[in-house]
Amino acid sequence: MSKLEIYSTFNEEARVCCNCDLGKCGKLDGYDPHVVGQGNVNADLMFIAEAPGKQETIHKRPLTPPGTSGNVYENILKFIGFTRDDVYTTNVVLCRPPGNRDPELYEVKKCQPYLERQIKLVEPKLIVTFGRFAAQAFVNNFKITKDHGNIIRSEKYGINIFPVYHPAYYKAYASAKRRAEFKTDINKLKGIISKNFRKAA
Ligand code: URA
Repeated sequence: MSKLEIYSTFNEEARVCCNCDLGKCGKLDGYDPHVVGQGNVNADLMFIAEAPGKQETIHKRPLTPPGTSGNVYENILKFIGFTRDDVYTTNVVLCRPPGNRDPELYEVKKCQPYLERQIKLVEPKLIVTFGRFAAQAFVNNFKITKDHGNIIRSEKYGINIFPVYHPAYYKAYASAKRRAEFKTDINKLKGIISKNFRKAA
């Protein structure tokens, strides 16, 4: 099977998944809660956030404008010289939690096979994780205030991650110090990418 065929099978299954309550609860605020990862299946670079919000369920795209996180994300992509079609974008949990609460541990566990399938399919050189929650899916004892902005090996997935603060946190809650750290990390990311990464066909 080609990568696109494998992606298509994954997409067909994930978009109707009922393995946990998030997928089973029907519509949320009038929209299907499933938002499947998407982008370039040959990408060197993968971005992973937490779980979709309302805008993602409307537009059926992870980290999408006009949501706050989606706006920040697209600015980051522009800054590093990439488009959505050059990278692969997804969330640790593929369905929107009610009231935008954090996903429960069991929901993360139920969604883990989909995360594994996406990583195995794309085989990125680096995964940029947004927020504590996404990084914790890869690394045990992860602490965002200490570990952000460094390449860290995920032994669990056999892959390198580059954790940064979550765009929604950066935009809405972070102190000036944390906002400055976020910008430093994104600059660092640009440096890493300009040396080692290609835009996939
Ligand atoms: N949108 C997403 O797709 N993921 C998040 O974590 C937040 C907003």
